[in-house]
Amino acid sequence: METCDVAIIGAGPAGVMAAWTAAREGARAVLLEREAHPGRKPCAEGILSEVLEDAEVSPSPEFAINHISGAVLYGPDEKKRVNVGGEGYILDKPALLNVLAERARDAGAMLEYGRTVENVVREDGHVLINGKDGSEPFSLGARIVIGCDGTGSILARQFFQRKRYQVIAAFQYAMTNCRLEDESKLEIFIGHNKAPAGYVWIFPKGNRTANVGIGVKGSGAKQLLDRFIQEHPAAFGEAAIERSQAAPVPVGGEVDDYVSENMMLCGDAAGQVIPLTGAGIHTSLVAGKLAGEEAGKAAKEGDTSLRRLSAYKDRFETLWGEKIRNSLKALESFERFSDDELNVITEYLDGQDLVEMAHGFSPSRAVSLLVKHPILAIKVAHQLLSS
Ligand SMILES: Cc1cc2nc3c(=O)[nH]c(=O)nc-3n(C[C@H](O)[C@H](O)[C@H](O)COP(=O)(O)OP(=O)(O)OC[C@H]3O[C@@H](n4cnc5c(N)ncnc54)[C@H](O)[C@@H]3O)c2cc1C
Repeated sequence: METCDVAIIGAGPAGVMAAWTAAREGARAVLLEREAHPGRKPCAEGILSEVLEDAEVSPSPEFAINHISGAVLYGPDEKKRVNVGGEGYILDKPALLNVLAERARDAGAMLEYGRTVENVVREDGHVLINGKDGSEPFSLGARIVIGCDGTGSILARQFFQRKRYQVIAAFQYAMTNCRLEDESKLEIFIGHNKAPAGYVWIFPKGNRTANVGIGVKGSGAKQLLDRFIQEHPAAFGEAAIERSQAAPVPVGGEVDDYVSENMMLCGDAAGQVIPLTGAGIHTSLVAGKLAGEEAGKAAKEGDTSLRRLSAYKDRFETLWGEKIRNSLKALESFERFSDDELNVITEYLDGQDLVEMAHGFSPSRAVSLLVKHPILAIKVAHQLLSS
């Protein structure tokens, strides 16, 4: 039977990074991906520039296909636009994942596409991974397995409790022939009538193409997105839908336990997503990078204990734990505001306030809201601080 030091399930952002760093540490790393290529999962493909810095790649037209400078956020009545700063890109995400996977291969990792993991068994300080290679069964022995296999993670379902793991439905069209005011700006539309407990996004990919999608709690995502498109004929009157895709986004915050003996979870599988925005590329890349590094070292040291592997969790928590918790608080609070209140909030807060709210609120900055709408300001502060 084939054996390795570190087996990684899933070639999403977390998996391609974990395979790279584990191999870089000198471990024999194997990346198992059920699809023939990475990047089949739908994604709006928006990132801030620092994501590529953390991935340790330079932006290239091969995968960073549209440069973005800032976002425009619309309140429920769309009367006020809030400009939010930040430089970034819309990716060709499959192309980026392919570049990162090939980098892992160059570092010595084995890339096994078309392999679906069906179950994992822990025995005598090792794990045994069983699955199908096309229609043929395969088994792989490993000292450590890293589950980077997304929301439906096999490893998570078998070995981790994932209490409070919560997903929302996201639905997206890849559209052509759109007429957007400014293709260098993301557009975000909030409001419970448009997108209950979520938002609609327009992420321009250049040349009149865009990822247009919605994330909502509960059902009806497609109907709500269709209505939004119909109600915005200036942008979409001549547009065509090239492709539609749906997938869940975990927005309940990190799961409590995502490391155990011989095992780690990364990315969506562990709930490592910014809850208010649903952004998970950055967090997943970083989690994979740290997990692969620690797994590679631990495998070489011959110590695959929970204590040793927890170094990954400690490092991730230091970087992202508080941000994810604060953002979850902000999400839970915003769900409680009515559309009328959200109109007022977007009218009086500036872009920086909103960026801070996405990562946890800083009430001291919301001076204009406090002066003009003291009762609403108190409600904002109370909800954010007490949730
Ligand atoms: C519609 C939508 C839009 C989004 N937009 C953005 C955005 O603009 N910006 C952003 O930052 N985030 C966005 N996200 C979130 C982001 O896509 C995820 O957080 C991120 O991709 C998670 O990475 P991951 O590596 O944990 O898992 P995934 O990207 O889900 O990758 C998991 C991989 O594991 C493979 N796999 C699963 N099960 C098995 C198995 N049993 N055997 C073998 N392989 C398996 C899958 O095929 C897949 O390749 C969006 C999500 C959705 C659904």
